[in-house]
Amino acid sequence: MFTIEVSHASGGIVRRSLKQMLVTYSSLSATLQLIRNSGARVLRITPHQQANNSPSTPSAAVTETPSPKAKDHGQVPVNLYKPKDPFLGTVLDNYSLLADGAIGRVNHITFDLSGGNLHYVEGQSIGIIPDGEDANGKPHKLRLYSIASTRHGDNLEGSTVSLCVRQLEYKNEAGEQIYGVCSSFLCDIEPGAKVKITGPVGKEMLLPPDEDANVIMLATGTGIAPMRAYLRRMFEPGEQGKNPEYKFKGKAWLFMGVPKTPNLLYEDDFSRYLSNYPENFRYTKAISREQENPSGGRMYIQDRVTEHADEIFALIEDPKTHVYMCGLRGMEPGIDEAMTAAAAKSGQDWSTLRPALKKADRWHVETY
Ligand code: NAP
Repeated sequence: MFTIEVSHASGGIVRRSLKQMLVTYSSLSATLQLIRNSGARVLRITPHQQANNSPSTPSAAVTETPSPKAKDHGQVPVNLYKPKDPFLGTVLDNYSLLADGAIGRVNHITFDLSGGNLHYVEGQSIGIIPDGEDANGKPHKLRLYSIASTRHGDNLEGSTVSLCVRQLEYKNEAGEQIYGVCSSFLCDIEPGAKVKITGPVGKEMLLPPDEDANVIMLATGTGIAPMRAYLRRMFEPGEQGKNPEYKFKGKAWLFMGVPKTPNLLYEDDFSRYLSNYPENFRYTKAISREQENPSGGRMYIQDRVTEHADEIFALIEDPKTHVYMCGLRGMEPGIDEAMTAAAAKSGQDWSTLRPALKKADRWHVETY
């Protein structure tokens, strides 16, 4: 619903009158044209938030109401340490996040940052320069990793940063087993070792400052890293004590895709948040090699999004909702398809809405 403020000129007197109209986003421009054709002048259009989030009552709020920008969330530090003069962090901890029977290797690695000026906010990344040289005898280039900790670090003292790293592993064309240089370096590193760290970088995945925001998170595998930081900021008791200005009151909905149950990451923490905050946290899993999608294929995150598409779209119509996507780029087309169908039910066009959400800083994507 919009309040459209219109001025009429009658008998040389300009009168202001308020009109309330229910119009769909797609019919908004036609309605405005009719008003103008009648000789009236449109002074202002104010989108109203819907009372019930009904998906069948589309709102121009999707595109017209700027949400508080995540980027406004205080000072966002960038490039405090550059590759030519990186910070030397000390490994504090390095442990596996996987349970027995999991596929591959995924570790949680924490670095001590004390003695420097490396600080960051949730959703940023840091660069790691692995020791050693490349095939040409040159020092390795840096690799970026999403930060998995909050600005306060896992020990809440503000002097550490944590990563969630999967060891890259694949067979090359000759059939040889290849392991990623930096991911192996990190997964094998021992506490006490010094590591070259750059950054922080990134403003794409910052959380909005407003406590009432709704946050939909779509992660595959280690793409969970920024989401783990968001969820700690929202629900971890120690974190809440550190953030008197941020008491999360919105809805957080995590969609997580992994190959097998033992590959679920930070599962104990997320289960605890579910029991402590049933009104604020929802958690939906796609376990690709254990569950089937309706076509009999592997259950991927986009299949879960399709199942809940109407609910997700209704949330997106609320101008306080932000969507975060991190992980495999392959999830994107299926998510767009699900949103296209949900938007069409209320006569809206997702191909127009998505760029508008992006522009409003409500659609955040970091996929590889
Ligand atoms: P993974 O454990 O190998 O896979 C995660 C899940 O995604 C598995 O269930 C996998 O299913 C599924 N999957 C495979 N293809 C998919 C597709 N087209 N659409 C949706 N789901 C699909 O994940 P990972 O190795 O941790 O890797 C996650 C990816 O995220 C990596 O490419 C990593 O570089 C990237 N990443 C990006 C960022 C960032 O952009 N900031 C941060 C962290 C990670 P099956 O294997 O059973 O088919």
